[in-house]
Amino acid sequence: MTPPVPTPAIGGILFDKDGTLLRYDESWGPVNREAARIAAAGNAQLEPRLLIAGGMDPVTGQTMADSLLAAGNAAEIAEGFVAAGSPFEPETLAAELDALFVRAAEFSVPVTDLAPLFAQLKERGLKLGIASSDNEMAIRRTAEHFGIAGHVDFIAGYDSGFGAKPGPGMFLAFCDATGLAPAQVAMVGDNNHDMLMGRAGGAGLNIAVLSGTGTRETLSKLADHCVEDITALETVITAPRKTAAGE
Ligand SMILES: [Mg+2]
Repeated sequence: MTPPVPTPAIGGILFDKDGTLLRYDESWGPVNREAARIAAAGNAQLEPRLLIAGGMDPVTGQTMADSLLAAGNAAEIAEGFVAAGSPFEPETLAAELDALFVRAAEFSVPVTDLAPLFAQLKERGLKLGIASSDNEMAIRRTAEHFGIAGHVDFIAGYDSGFGAKPGPGMFLAFCDATGLAPAQVAMVGDNNHDMLMGRAGGAGLNIAVLSGTGTRETLSKLADHCVEDITALETVITAPRKTAAGE
């Protein structure tokens, strides 16, 4: 059992997307390879070098925790690829990568059947949001593809105008949008930039999931709880059921 953490009454959950709602390696391995292919502009020898610079092993397909590819947004990945030898202008490459990430949304692999899980959390009266380093259109495409768009109260990407992780902007915008205080919100993610965003915003709970690129070792310092994946959220969030509100 995880040691008890004083649990505030949670009224909302803000989810990261990749590695949290979606399986990271299965969803993003092929996309990262395609991103490197685009960035290499026909130079096949450059492709593996770009992947390595981004934190992905071109042979095993595994991506390192908190690496550029695991945690960066398209603008940051483009800058990293250019620094590692891509001949593009960073802005041009970022636009190419954003377009790729929107196309990739429908090929992504979810951690679990998301629609019933989100319906169940919603049924408990929780406000739900997604805050990702991906672009907003790609997140919306993902939410629609997996049938959770109707259950989600808030979506923000790195291009939504609330700043990027690990800054608190997207977290605080979720609080604004839902009327919840930061202490009523649980932040759920697979990278330390999610946990840092939660801390910076004053989240009531920081919940790390081990379904992405992070590990118990990399995440436990900043997380109140580490759980295997989002199917275990019920074990650490004690939101009152609508019918048991104590009235
Ligand atoms: Mg993630």
